[in-house]
Amino acid sequence: MVDLKGQYNDIKDVVNTSIQEVIETTAFINGPKVHDFQKKLETYLGVKHVIPCANGTDALQIAMMGLGLKPGDEVITADFTFAATVEVIALLQLTPVLVDVNEDDFNINIEAIKKAITPKTKAIVPVHLFGQCANMEAIMDIAKAHNLFVIEDNAQAIGANYTYKNGSKVKAGTIGNVGATSFFPSKNLGCYGDGGAIFTNDDDLAHTIRGIVNHGMYERYHHDVVGVNSRLDSIQAAVLGTKLPRLDAYNTARRTAAKKYNAAFKHIEHITTPKTINGCEGICDTCDCHVFHQYTLKITGIDRDALVKHLNEKEIPCGVYYPIPLHKQKAYIDDRYNEADFTVTNQLVKNVISLPMHTELDDEQIEYITSTIINFINE
Ligand SMILES: *Cc1c(COP(=O)(O)O)cnc(C)c1O
Repeated sequence: MVDLKGQYNDIKDVVNTSIQEVIETTAFINGPKVHDFQKKLETYLGVKHVIPCANGTDALQIAMMGLGLKPGDEVITADFTFAATVEVIALLQLTPVLVDVNEDDFNINIEAIKKAITPKTKAIVPVHLFGQCANMEAIMDIAKAHNLFVIEDNAQAIGANYTYKNGSKVKAGTIGNVGATSFFPSKNLGCYGDGGAIFTNDDDLAHTIRGIVNHGMYERYHHDVVGVNSRLDSIQAAVLGTKLPRLDAYNTARRTAAKKYNAAFKHIEHITTPKTINGCEGICDTCDCHVFHQYTLKITGIDRDALVKHLNEKEIPCGVYYPIPLHKQKAYIDDRYNEADFTVTNQLVKNVISLPMHTELDDEQIEYITSTIINFINE
């Protein structure tokens, strides 16, 4: 699905040198590389504060802790996503409220959010799934009307732009009260282990969060709040500092591969190619609205699982993200849910298939993948 080795070979010298510097200086924890990367990411995202942390799941948890959410508060998030989002909500003894997503862009559905709001609702967590933003303008309007926090799960969309109706653009993850991301190796900006970060334009919230990531300390050995230990280690920061200047090029490579996939599948029955929603139709060259963390097709009228099996036999990697709606996962079953409210997710889990997507895909690979799929469908 990804080619981390190919990407590494391309930047081997700079990355090795940067890692070596950390080792030579033994600045393993909170060294200058962490600070450098933090500053570079603030500039890249156009956000006032980046707080690096240990992974994307922690980033979400710490963001929620920083906002002072309390047990019993309801937090609305998407049913069709990776479990980390709902996991941290539950872990903090907040009440997860899962809602359905859109058929076209797989992102959280606005009407479903509105329907799920109760007097206990305190926050919305849109997940910018597969590389493009949820409808943030509508989400921010709802949040304002109901006095809710917005926490963006930006683990899959770093570098994507969000375009407002008036044409202005901002980076994904910088629109809500706080954004969280992951630097897991296969993410669009991946390190060589675990890593994550929290973004915010709110000075007070940034201060609170800087304490939380460091055992609730604002002054050495004074623990003002209950915190956690969640650090981005210097070696990972060294890798990320090398890769960040290449992120736009990496995302362009993903978009280029997506365009080639789209072209090959254009007139093929039973296949729906991914839709980009914000500000453009199709894959746009200029707006950077989709960074294709995943390239995900919808397969209808033929057996998706038979296609998966066929691709496995042909040694073509593929994935089903996600095979089970979160509201049906044992850990998150809740009497409040009504199956009729999850028609889209219930369908998507049966139809979606994600193809190899990374920065090193070449024409020959894309041709082999697409022709194998098309031949299977035509058989
Ligand atoms: C990867 C991911 C996370 C968690 O990130 P980790 O760094 O693996 O903890 C959270 N949310 C989404 C949507 C993700 O894709």
